[in-house]
Amino acid sequence: MICMDPMPQQFDIRLDTLTGANSDSRESAAVLSPTASGGNTFYLETFGCQMNAHDSEKVAGVLLGRGYKQVETIDAARLVLYNTCSIREKAAQKIYSRLGAYAKYPGEEKIIGVLGCVAQQEGEEIFERSPWVRLVCGSASYSKLPDLISELESGNRRVMGLDKDTDATFETEITRRDNPFRAYLTIIEGCDKACSYCVVPFTRGPERSRASASVLEEARRLADAGYSEIQLLGQTVNSYKDPSAKRMSFAELLVAVAAVKGIRRVRFTTSHPRDFGRDIVEAIDAVPELCSHVHLPVQSGSTRILREMLRTYTREEYLEKIAMIRAARRPISVTSDVIVGFPGETEEDLEETLSLLDILQYDGVFAFQYSPRPNTAAQHMPDAVPEEEKGRRLALVMDRQREIQRARNESLIGNTYEALVDGASRREGQWSGRCSSNRILNFTSPRENLLGEYVQVRVKSASPNCLVGEHAI
Ligand code: SAM
Ligand code: SF4
Repeated sequence: MICMDPMPQQFDIRLDTLTGANSDSRESAAVLSPTASGGNTFYLETFGCQMNAHDSEKVAGVLLGRGYKQVETIDAARLVLYNTCSIREKAAQKIYSRLGAYAKYPGEEKIIGVLGCVAQQEGEEIFERSPWVRLVCGSASYSKLPDLISELESGNRRVMGLDKDTDATFETEITRRDNPFRAYLTIIEGCDKACSYCVVPFTRGPERSRASASVLEEARRLADAGYSEIQLLGQTVNSYKDPSAKRMSFAELLVAVAAVKGIRRVRFTTSHPRDFGRDIVEAIDAVPELCSHVHLPVQSGSTRILREMLRTYTREEYLEKIAMIRAARRPISVTSDVIVGFPGETEEDLEETLSLLDILQYDGVFAFQYSPRPNTAAQHMPDAVPEEEKGRRLALVMDRQREIQRARNESLIGNTYEALVDGASRREGQWSGRCSSNRILNFTSPRENLLGEYVQVRVKSASPNCLVGEHAI
């Protein structure tokens, strides 16, 4: 599997203008924080996907804008927030084990809040299971978060935001960016698809796209703040529908973001195969700033299982989409998500997934064991695959894909790629970055201070998860 994004040291935009920005909040924070211990401070832990990571950046921005200070430990915090994920059961369980820890401190004056998908899914049940929790706010209700925080500040014991009928997107004046090199920018929230295994339409509500002018304004602000790489986010990012009179298509929006002065790289995730059109490939071909990478989850190689999953495409239709991407004038790397052990999945279905991997030669795959989720159509489907068997199937998929990636990466030895440097090793002269294709490139350089620089790297060796090379000076 391609490794997840590193989240390096914290980086603030406009922090200088934030401290004490809101005199009301300082006054009311006295209610939220009556003792000296912890003061006006918050601790925020995030679980799950990039959308969650970016939501947390916005939540942190809301709090910083109200005069709060972010701290690194629970001990130092007055307000403790968990931004949760419920995509698989294990992720959802984690949050209850975190909350369980507070049972030991009944007299503790910390204010505990649960945000995100578990909050939306479990709602009031969280208060029942963990009575010390005082804030529950679902991912579809983040636009209400500032009001909920105000209610807490004015002394309300318990506050809750769980509306899903909102057509609002979560836009903040200030976003605390955790990654100094790649800025996330949400263009569409929620999901209107209805994949039978997936909890997202329930937890994040219906699709809401942001007006193209607002997206472009944020992109310009990011460029002004020094970002050169932007990643556009959405659960189905390419289902974007500009609600403004401009009616920009997703491909047109990509091109417009790429044209913002100072932006050198634009990425987007996650695309849904059904809405993936030729115009996106044409845009990538035409605009060098659009990265050579598409993440297009297939989920299964079996048309029968895809139908049960309600994915709205067949194996053949998916293969056609990839053929369209591979026919581009420049090589575009393709990555995917795969679920094994969906109810009723047979050996033959699994073989179809493995053969799809062989045919498509993906550059990376995130593979998951199917996990039944509440409020989904597949939850009570018959013919559940035993957990142990799911584990065996997962290992087969990962082993096969590892060898594919090894061969693909080895075929790149000798080539030179541009990397945006986003990490430094403790060992002197060792750096890490990403190519336009999103591959990780570890390399050596005699130069210093390369963080944030774009450098040319010659590939000397390769493993399934990264390329290794040297700075081509
Ligand atoms: N919107 C994206 C799409 O349509 O492909 C996926 C977003 S979802 C947050 C990320 C991945 O989690 C999915 O692609 C799927 O592989 C996996 N996933 C979602 N629900 C799952 C479940 N119930 N069990 C296992 N994996 C699941
Ligand atoms: Fe979930 Fe399907 Fe929507 Fe993706 S498209 S978020 S998998 S329901």
